[in-house]
Amino acid sequence: MASSDTLQRRGLMFILSSPSGAGKTTISRMLLDRDSDIALSVSATTRPMRPGEVDGVHYHFVDQAEFDRMVEADEFYEWATVFGHSYGTPKAQIRAGLKEGRDYLFDIDWQGTQQLYQKDQQDVVRVFILPPSIDELRRRLTGRGTDSAEVIAARMERARAEISHWDGYDYVVINDDVEACYTQVCEILHAERMKRARQTGLIGFVRGLMKD
Ligand code: 5GP
Repeated sequence: MASSDTLQRRGLMFILSSPSGAGKTTISRMLLDRDSDIALSVSATTRPMRPGEVDGVHYHFVDQAEFDRMVEADEFYEWATVFGHSYGTPKAQIRAGLKEGRDYLFDIDWQGTQQLYQKDQQDVVRVFILPPSIDELRRRLTGRGTDSAEVIAARMERARAEISHWDGYDYVVINDDVEACYTQVCEILHAERMKRARQTGLIGFVRGLMKD
């Protein structure tokens, strides 16, 4: 018997963005640990590998000439220079995975989100996570109490700048409680998987229902 869980479907690109301190990294880890249908998108980068990192798992580590060639060949959904190194989201692997029903998680900021959305509106689902209050955000960004007032003020400023882009997202979730926030994020993911346009196996299934 068919159910919407067993029918062939197209994957989606699930973007989670938030100001730092709102819990995006925790929610991303929970999703990747608990849902085997979604995988983290692996970017290409020119920065040197850090101890413990694995090529092809954390990043595809490439030299600048190779990165430039990939840009020229239009092999990235989006790319950016961060702290003097180049980073980009390669298209080929994701396109192939989407066709097979694999979902990809993107832990990227609003600029990367805009670029991805411009390239592929149909497959992108944009989720923004907000902190429950400005006081709570300050508390989370204050860290262990060892940072100077200036460092904390700069972090708060960056967070406010990121929050100002909240309206460029399809869904907004307030992270008051991590488990509750995770549940809401899962509900969004599950509903998006059910969209008719993504349920590519429905055509054959419905044809079967229409037979006498
Ligand atoms: P790290 O070198 O510490 O792993 O990452 C540095 C920064 O690069 C992080 O802010 C991360 O979000 C960003 N980054 C990693 N991969 C990509 C990518 O594919 N595209 C963009 N635009 N930024 C990325």
